[in-house]
Amino acid sequence: MELISVLVPCYNEEENVFDFYNELMKTESYFKERDVDFEIIYINDGSKDGTVSEVKKLHEQDERVHLISFSRNFGKESAIYAGLQKAKGDYVVMMDADLQDPPALLPEMYTAIVDEGYDSVATRRVSRKGEPPIRSWFARRFYSLMNKMSKTEIVDGARDYRLMSRQFVDAILSMEEYNRFSKGIFGWVGFDTKWLEYENIERQKGETKWSFWKLFLYALDGIIAFSTSPLSFASILGVLFCFLAFVLIVVIIVRTALIGDPTSGWPSLVCIISLISGVQLLCLGIVGQYLSKTYLEVKKRPIYLVKEEI
Ligand code: UDP
Ligand code: MG
Repeated sequence: MELISVLVPCYNEEENVFDFYNELMKTESYFKERDVDFEIIYINDGSKDGTVSEVKKLHEQDERVHLISFSRNFGKESAIYAGLQKAKGDYVVMMDADLQDPPALLPEMYTAIVDEGYDSVATRRVSRKGEPPIRSWFARRFYSLMNKMSKTEIVDGARDYRLMSRQFVDAILSMEEYNRFSKGIFGWVGFDTKWLEYENIERQKGETKWSFWKLFLYALDGIIAFSTSPLSFASILGVLFCFLAFVLIVVIIVRTALIGDPTSGWPSLVCIISLISGVQLLCLGIVGQYLSKTYLEVKKRPIYLVKEEI
């Protein structure tokens, strides 16, 4: 008998624990026929509501339901990593608890791997309906910038909903970095991925955990984790300004020799000084971003801490 591990990261999702399970079980008969069983792992990412007790209730009902409970909120990326480490399945799938990732697609994903020979099947939403327009605009800018800057392909609208073969999972687990940006990691490992598309589905119950600011910082993390071009940008700016300064020096020497030195011009000097110091601080900031990520990486802190496991 084959096993599919279903990973469900949960942060304050008490209303969705049972709904998700019930929705997933609608696909059970399809898999039973093919001699495939489920293992459902809820990863509680430091929820402050009744998520843990809901999962425990579910475990009483069905012992294929497991729980990994973190000691605090470590973020969805850490939850995914923990789930991948614990998953025993021949195939592993990640889904959001809020039913934005429809379990009804699972049979189609499964056949793509088993019959068509893909290593993973990923999903992307082709619309962003139900999302604030400003957020969609920034998201599109992020993806186009990211794909210009990074060699790793990052697909616009890709969700974390993905069914993977054991080989693909092991490849991801071999990337033990602390600053985890899944969308990049999935692209980086390669293998054959089939993309399924669907219209955006709005969250069933509860609220999104991503504020605009959180998403913005996440986007920056992604750029820093998968591209070093901001560093080259700093060097290029430096070279440009050196060149400009050199030209100006020549101009001033020649002009002084020809027509003497008119003493006016300190306002322009102030402007130039503030421009250059601004550029210097910007570049220092870019270097600082990479340094801080390196610092966190070098410390080798655990990606998550488990408080309880069932
Ligand atoms: N999530 C998590 N830890 C976090 C934030 C979110 O495990 O710190 C989970 C959340 O419970 C949900 C999934 O990640 O199952 C996606 O979160 P959400 O629906 O809030 O994001 P959105 O769909 O709005 O991008
Ligand atoms: Mg959601």
